[in-house]
Amino acid sequence: MATDIKALRRDFPTLAQIVNGHPLVYLDNAATTQKPQPVLDALNHYYRDTNANVHRASHALSGQATRAFEQAREKVARFIHAASAREIVWTRGTTEAINLVAFGFGRHFLQPGDEILLSTLEHHANIVPWQQAAAATGAVLKVIPLTDTAELDLDAARALICERTRLLAIGHVSNALGQVNPVAELIRLAKAVGAVTLVDGAQAVGHFPVDVQALDCDFYAFSGHKMFAPTGIGVLYGRMEWLERMPPWQTGGEMIKTVSFEATTFNAPPFKFEAGTPNIAGAIALGAAVDYLAVQDRAALMRHEDALLRQLVDGLDAMADINVIGRPRAGAVSFVMDDVHPQDLATLLDMQGIAVRTGHHCAMPLMQALALPQGTVRASLAFYNTDDDVAALLAGIDKARELL
Ligand code: PMP
Repeated sequence: MATDIKALRRDFPTLAQIVNGHPLVYLDNAATTQKPQPVLDALNHYYRDTNANVHRASHALSGQATRAFEQAREKVARFIHAASAREIVWTRGTTEAINLVAFGFGRHFLQPGDEILLSTLEHHANIVPWQQAAAATGAVLKVIPLTDTAELDLDAARALICERTRLLAIGHVSNALGQVNPVAELIRLAKAVGAVTLVDGAQAVGHFPVDVQALDCDFYAFSGHKMFAPTGIGVLYGRMEWLERMPPWQTGGEMIKTVSFEATTFNAPPFKFEAGTPNIAGAIALGAAVDYLAVQDRAALMRHEDALLRQLVDGLDAMADINVIGRPRAGAVSFVMDDVHPQDLATLLDMQGIAVRTGHHCAMPLMQALALPQGTVRASLAFYNTDDDVAALLAGIDKARELL
């Protein structure tokens, strides 16, 4: 049975509005996704009905909040097929998750001369923490270059992965170009030389199912807000062996077993990494987003999104003055218009109610490698986008061209 996208859109109140006199065409999903009603309800329900701190009190509301909070952890574990909910650490988002590993693993396990392997396509969140860890430890950053089609060069990666490689940190899907990187193959190669592996899954989890055990990665990081959940909540999946070995990076309440003025013993993972009162409502609402996705026909949603992406790329390719960058496969499509600043085009689109993003997309080294100092215009899809949205963008570009 074909999924009724128009009906699903009614679950997302934000989508049904007029912006600058036009129905909103929301094509900035790589920046953040809209939230369905069940996620909004979960937030509201927590604050209205069960608001209490988790894990410590012996009263009824705290028990309810703790159950919902820990159930959300179990839902997330199932969602990415982690072996145990104890391998799910709540964070503020992908950035904090990567920083946690860059501190706990990076600062404590990297040695001078160890190599950290990244790709040219990385988001700043998967560059800067490693740069800092390298500066602190004497480790060295190595970067997988691009092919002529702006894709990750797997042959070059094969040549770079060697016995000095201590860590591979790689994006699953490029937020700037919408390319799906060959992460399974890269992880296999990295493991063969004994390297630890981290995947930045920020742009993957909202688009296709992820199985961390099948990927065989040590760490997988993502943000709730890019998969229909609120901002301020994210996940670090960590293989238990590493969560046990890594020291905590923030300390205080919740993460301890015993404290005296002489010494402190730490709680077991994942609590060891969750100092202070967590984002309880956010975690519960992320659980609600997982539930929402679980009842959809995800294969049908993926086919729908894929068809939209093809339609968008074909439409852009048909325009002589537009150049699509790279080979988009999931979510984002980046493009430039001859002799037009990306921001000017985006402003003219915004006047028509069309939300896209411009600039370097937090990937300045990538834009430099592509010789695109002004960046690109990026249109990014979610399953709730429609043929009409794609047609509106293409028509909007035509109209902008007339005005320029
Ligand atoms: N990595 C990628 C690939 C991203 O797209 C983003 C968000 N743009 C991040 C990391 C950082 O995510 P957050 O800002 O939610 O921490």
